[in-house]
Amino acid sequence: MDNPPLSRGVEQAVGNNWAMLVTYPLERTAMKRRALLAGIAGLVTTPSFARRLRPHPLRVGVVGAGILGTSIALHLAESGAEVTLFEAHAPARGATQNSYAWLNGFVSDPHYRDLRLASLARWRWLDAHYGLGISWGGYLNWGAGDAGAALVHENAAQLAGSAAPITDLAVEDIGRYAPYLTPGPVSAALYAPNDGHIDPVSVTERLLTAAQRAGARLLCPSRVEGLHIQNGRLRAAATTSGYVELDRLVIAAGTATPTLTAMAGTPLTLAHAPGILSHTRPVGPFTLLTHEGPGEASFKQLPSGHIVAYDAPRPPDLAAHAGIRAAEMDYPSEALRREHGERMLMHLSRFCPKIRVSDFERLTLGFRPMPIDDRPIVGALHSVPDIHVAVTHSGVTLAAILGRLVSSEVLSGTRSAVLSPYRPERFG
Ligand SMILES: Cc1cc2nc3c(=O)[nH]c(=O)nc-3n(C[C@H](O)[C@H](O)[C@H](O)COP(=O)(O)OP(=O)(O)OC[C@H]3O[C@@H](n4cnc5c(N)ncnc54)[C@H](O)[C@@H]3O)c2cc1C
Repeated sequence: MDNPPLSRGVEQAVGNNWAMLVTYPLERTAMKRRALLAGIAGLVTTPSFARRLRPHPLRVGVVGAGILGTSIALHLAESGAEVTLFEAHAPARGATQNSYAWLNGFVSDPHYRDLRLASLARWRWLDAHYGLGISWGGYLNWGAGDAGAALVHENAAQLAGSAAPITDLAVEDIGRYAPYLTPGPVSAALYAPNDGHIDPVSVTERLLTAAQRAGARLLCPSRVEGLHIQNGRLRAAATTSGYVELDRLVIAAGTATPTLTAMAGTPLTLAHAPGILSHTRPVGPFTLLTHEGPGEASFKQLPSGHIVAYDAPRPPDLAAHAGIRAAEMDYPSEALRREHGERMLMHLSRFCPKIRVSDFERLTLGFRPMPIDDRPIVGALHSVPDIHVAVTHSGVTLAAILGRLVSSEVLSGTRSAVLSPYRPERFG
């Protein structure tokens, strides 16, 4: 599990202060401790004596096998906890399966940006250890006209002063990075080499396999329907697969998180934030980049060859989308699904002729777990400190570092200063 060269790269990418968080070998320490205990136990002939030598591992439940809950489960299991992961439907089937899944540091608040950059570095570390198949192609952004240039400059300003490199591009440079583009008139462009993107389902499945190898138990389908709390301490979770005694619980249930925190006496509100992506069938591989052109026209290509595209972060303001703009529900109709998906590909094909409407495969609709101030909500609940919450937009970007930080808080009982701006109690 050692990786010294990466550690130096991490320092360059996120600065010294964050490098510790990304590479600090909690897992290694825990594994060595377990190996040592197993060794001692092996020397002792009576099983009961061996059992007495082994410390009782903390029994931690994690609600939700999306990318965030799965990363937390992996980090907990690698650190020696006895982990049970509860999933009501199937792993990676919530917001995670419908995510654009761009790993990036772009946000105006410098602390939040650095948390995201630390997560990118942690993703590199996890990728190196678990073979996650992340596409580390960087991000290419270009704009047209004064308004387009302003957006590109705004993006560049967000990374300015961070340890993440960013390059201003001249129009002629775009062709060097992405010869397949027909970008149209360009007024400003940038390249951020640090960024990546993933296939969120495949990466979650790989994290889950690693978590299970480290001893985590997946109960699926298993819905957490109630919590047994006595004198302010968690005793157990009541689930559709039975009553499970627990010492700690992490709620990482995406948009369902408020239902679970309410069971522990902490109300939370999330904003309603639908998002639509259009997917092509697999086409020959041509790029690892994440692209964003005028009008937020965005696309990337997965290692499987599928192109994933979107042309606006929210559904269009059309009568047909009124339902999904108001509530979490299925797409209005199959015909509309195809029509909208093809229209998105048509729009994107202006910038990239490799995107063809005839290659349309499916349109996906997802609902982001979106805190009302757009910031992650992470930490122990004041109402029941044995219960932690982790819910955020950009959960794909953040899953790596939050897995690391949340598991450490759960196991040590010590609050990490890094997470102080993101506590649930800021909502009162
Ligand atoms: C269109 C779109 C584009 C996005 N683009 C990006 C992007 O580019 N970059 C980025 O970083 N993020 C992006 N996001 C956001 C990101 O996808 C989410 O923040 C992330 O997937 C959240 O993961 P999660 O594990 O917290 O939640 P989820 O993936 O929703 O998982 C929660 C799980 O909890 C389970 N669950 C719920 N209640 C219970 C219960 N009572 N018992 C047991 N299980 C339960 C659910 O079944 C579900 O599987 C995007 C999202 C969307 C929709």
